[in-house]
Amino acid sequence: MTGGAGFLGSHLADLLIARGHRVVVIDNLITGTIDNIAHLGGNPNFKFIQQDVTEFIFLDTRVDYVWHFASPASPVDYLELPIQTLKVGSLGTHKALGLAKHKGARFLLASTSEIYGDPLVHPQTEDYWGNVNPIGPRGCYDEAKRFAEALTMAYCNEHDLDTRIVRIFNTYGPRMRLNDGRVVPAFVSQALKNKPLTVFGRGTQTRSFCYCADLIEGVYRLMLSSARDPVNIGNPNEMTVLEFAREIIRATRSKSRIVFKPLPQDDPRQRRPDIGRARRLLGWEPRVPLSKGLEQTIAYFRHRLLGLGVEAKVEKST
Ligand code: UDP
Repeated sequence: MTGGAGFLGSHLADLLIARGHRVVVIDNLITGTIDNIAHLGGNPNFKFIQQDVTEFIFLDTRVDYVWHFASPASPVDYLELPIQTLKVGSLGTHKALGLAKHKGARFLLASTSEIYGDPLVHPQTEDYWGNVNPIGPRGCYDEAKRFAEALTMAYCNEHDLDTRIVRIFNTYGPRMRLNDGRVVPAFVSQALKNKPLTVFGRGTQTRSFCYCADLIEGVYRLMLSSARDPVNIGNPNEMTVLEFAREIIRATRSKSRIVFKPLPQDDPRQRRPDIGRARRLLGWEPRVPLSKGLEQTIAYFRHRLLGLGVEAKVEKST
């Protein structure tokens, strides 16, 4: 698994180990962290290799499945790392596909709802081609993932490689980085510190949030399925960013207020997965309601913030 020290990769590694697989994680730790996989250290079924996956990947073991999860995935991260984002989506995908071909393994690409850009079709079905600005601030991520999908299909068609593509919609849960800039860690840490929640624009843009355990189960089922076409995995429970901010204040019982900040360029106005294909082909749908998922996530962030020495402020909010 590439990117296995990241938020989603590390949850996937846990699930694979729990289901009796052997896992080799390759990660250069630029946005992932060893903390996410430290608990797997010493497990005979787990191995970690620190490597940039844009370099040649050499493994001397049998490989049945390649899970390509490496990439910065937060808008703040890929704005800071545009070239690395483009390289891991293109060169990194090429190396991971090459490994799968060499080993005769099945390959799964972690793609994204970002390939739909600022979508003009709502909710987004897999046959929608998207509305992406290639030269905007999000272009490095969107186009890298679009290229990665194209390369994956080319390996499928030309080399008859057994491939899967999952389009991941907004996902949240423990192990998101406190400072990754995405809306969930941003709002939860602001709320726990009783600081104002920074809503971008008027907060009328929508997102649909999926809990990580649901997402990972869908990804696992996709790998084991025979679905070669891309499959959306996400939660269709859509809400505005302003509604989400209020939900976080309620769930943390915070005294925070809401402040409005400028809307970043090309911020998609609406996003909601059509999960008909996942339901049909994988028998999958999300099960964890937002309130339950937030409980777990808030507990994790509370713990992390305590570790950073902000006890007093966190206590005040409880
Ligand atoms: N957002 C916000 N305040 C923040 C961070 C994000 O209002 O402090 C908004 C952002 O403009 C976007 C939504 O929340 O409309 C989700 O942003 P995120 O960075 O989590 O990921 P995206 O879905 O845009 O890829």
